[in-house]
Amino acid sequence: MPRNRACCLLSLLLVLASVVAVGQNSPSVSARARAIHDSAIIVDTHADTPQRFLDENFDIGNTDPKDVGHISLDKARAGNLGAEFFSIWVDPGTVPPDHFARHTFDLIDSVYQQAAHHPDRMMMAFSVADIERAHKQKKLAALMGIEGGHSIENDIHLLRAYYRLGVRYMTLSWSNTNEWADSSGDINDPKVQHHDGLTDFGKQVVLEMNRLGMIVDISHVADKTFWDTIATTKAPIIASHSSARALTDAPRNMTDDMLRAMTKNGGVVQVNFFSGFDDENYWKASQAQAKEADSAVKAYIDQQRAAGRQPTYIEVDRIEREWTEKIPRPPLKSLIDHIDHIAKVAGVDHVGLGSDFDGVSGATPQGIDSAADLPKITQALLDRGYSADDIRKILGGNTLRVFREVERVSHELQAVGSASSVQ
Ligand SMILES: [Zn+2]
Repeated sequence: MPRNRACCLLSLLLVLASVVAVGQNSPSVSARARAIHDSAIIVDTHADTPQRFLDENFDIGNTDPKDVGHISLDKARAGNLGAEFFSIWVDPGTVPPDHFARHTFDLIDSVYQQAAHHPDRMMMAFSVADIERAHKQKKLAALMGIEGGHSIENDIHLLRAYYRLGVRYMTLSWSNTNEWADSSGDINDPKVQHHDGLTDFGKQVVLEMNRLGMIVDISHVADKTFWDTIATTKAPIIASHSSARALTDAPRNMTDDMLRAMTKNGGVVQVNFFSGFDDENYWKASQAQAKEADSAVKAYIDQQRAAGRQPTYIEVDRIEREWTEKIPRPPLKSLIDHIDHIAKVAGVDHVGLGSDFDGVSGATPQGIDSAADLPKITQALLDRGYSADDIRKILGGNTLRVFREVERVSHELQAVGSASSVQ
């Protein structure tokens, strides 16, 4: 019947219109939320896109609508993303230890290459002033954070070299315990040699980061490493992509005591968008399949090595994605609950965004498919009664405050001629 057909056509058109409108003018984002969102300098402290730059030759200027990645210049623009800390992550499972530094340099280079290809829309940034300059010029500020202290190969000279190349934070450990910092990822593995938190060298690394002006990041670390870091650091710290353990019992999430310690330290916890850390059901489902998923990855790595080939991160990611896609994505509410909890326990000045984009395969909450969807977070915070000022703090203001304070402490330490005690 024509009437029905017209109705079908109309609903098809509506569906198409809403697909086209995602991010930019999504009907789920009000004009008020959009205006608040657009008035903020939005800072995301963790995206794994450099793996794509290096292994896939991914171009951040990519405009392919079928690309499943979370970050591109178009997506960043649609979501008003102002600054991204690109994660320099060396997979200790696929890269041999004597190549950690080399791979770190390759990843750093890949970020510079992207900025060089798109000087009109993206710029390297090394300071708060750079981020503000990029914002004025409507360019994406590209910063870098090293994820995992194993990248310094136990050499403080390498740490300084990374700072000089522009790295502005370092996560003390990834999921692997290194020679000077325990990780939450293997803390219960009796085969791993642990140190009861940070070693003396680990504490020197923290102090040297303070002196250099490199933000100390405690995402991934074991609880004792966190407490040792809090007791050692002279500057505020961050948890670049961590959520709340009171809501989701993952060992790399932060307890309420840790959140309160972050308040005292003046730092910021940037909430991770990974559903495994934000949704208890998702976490349990992913734990249930962890053994099988891990052995699928291990089988691939073993097979490559046996054939004399280097395993690639991209293939590992593809295998992991196959597993994560078996678990239903939770609603956006799960992520917002974590922001809300941290704002209540630590205070609204101590919470931010650390998406883990391009590092969590298909495992973001429903509605968050890329950086273009960031306005939906502003809408959700507005719906929960957050003021415009508080929303701007969460979106980036808090992270900028910590960065500024880290710069100030560094200048102060350098002005009194404090040289590193580690040669
Ligand atoms: Zn991570």
